[in-house]
Amino acid sequence: MTELELDEPRAGEVLVRYVASGLCHSDLHVIDGSMFHPAPVVLGHEGAGIVEAVGPGVTTVSVGDHVLTSYQPACGRCWYCSQGRSNLCVLRDANRTVMADGTTRMRDKKTGEDILHFFQLSTHSERAVVPELGLVPIRKDAPLDLACLVSCGVATGFGAVINRAKVHTGSTVVVIGCGGVGLNAIQAAVLAGAARIVAVDRLPHKLEHAREFGATHTVDGTDTEKALADIRQICGHDGADYAIEAVGAPATIMMAFNCLHRGGTAVINGIAADGTTITFDPRLLLTERVLTGTSFGSIRSRIDLPMIVDLFMDGKFKLRELVSRQVGLAEINDAYDRLAKGEARREVLVYS
Ligand SMILES: [Zn+2]
Ligand SMILES: [Zn+2]
Repeated sequence: MTELELDEPRAGEVLVRYVASGLCHSDLHVIDGSMFHPAPVVLGHEGAGIVEAVGPGVTTVSVGDHVLTSYQPACGRCWYCSQGRSNLCVLRDANRTVMADGTTRMRDKKTGEDILHFFQLSTHSERAVVPELGLVPIRKDAPLDLACLVSCGVATGFGAVINRAKVHTGSTVVVIGCGGVGLNAIQAAVLAGAARIVAVDRLPHKLEHAREFGATHTVDGTDTEKALADIRQICGHDGADYAIEAVGAPATIMMAFNCLHRGGTAVINGIAADGTTITFDPRLLLTERVLTGTSFGSIRSRIDLPMIVDLFMDGKFKLRELVSRQVGLAEINDAYDRLAKGEARREVLVYS
């Protein structure tokens, strides 16, 4: 652990005291080098906290507000935001290793070296300065150590099913990869009224979790051809209506596409490593199979994040069961090791 100095929030910025932060595969991808990010950086992008101070011109959050982070800030005014597609806001093109004015708010207390931000959020710290547009206020009675999960893994899995695939009642849904994102795709498919929800994973304990979250069938994904045959048999009609992929590997992306019947839709959620390519038979597209992806579950953060928190508070969406362990900052490296080994569902850093 390193002690950092944190500047006051400038115009359009907010000082947040984080209460909790989920540990996500996107952070792990930076740690293991499969996704390049300049260093030194404070990672973390799945956070929940309380506003401690606001900079000049901030109007949408106030001191004392409970907030979730949104790793895709939404300006509310650009062409994408105006269409209700705030997850594609032009701000995603900005350099989010620094604040909007091009400088950082964190520096090493001993050496004075500037420390970079991660998605301008850096939730693996007790406090951070964050752009106002990267925060979403939520109700104050929601436990922040659970609500933090909504900020990335939950929103991504939920949104892939509800917003992007638009799963319909009575349909068949295959979910490939049953970790922190896949389990949320499964419980969203339950909410959408899917008739059959087929969970695919190589790890038996992950398939058990999938059943707890509402999967009606489980398939061992170790042997691709056998898995495809099993999926077709369970779904009928030559395959599934929808497939949600939450791994990001070429084999699982192709499994998602190949398990569909004609006209089915595959939504890719997993983040492939830098340099990954896939090849496939383009004639499959002529049979109206759809291969698409989603960014941040195609959510409109200021509408969908509080809505998912409401679903949880009403007992209609599981968050507590997603958490395999709560850890303190001192245990963060062990926690990422467990995530890398596939041992963890979701581990949550809780700040005292
Ligand atoms: Zn994430
Ligand atoms: Zn925008």
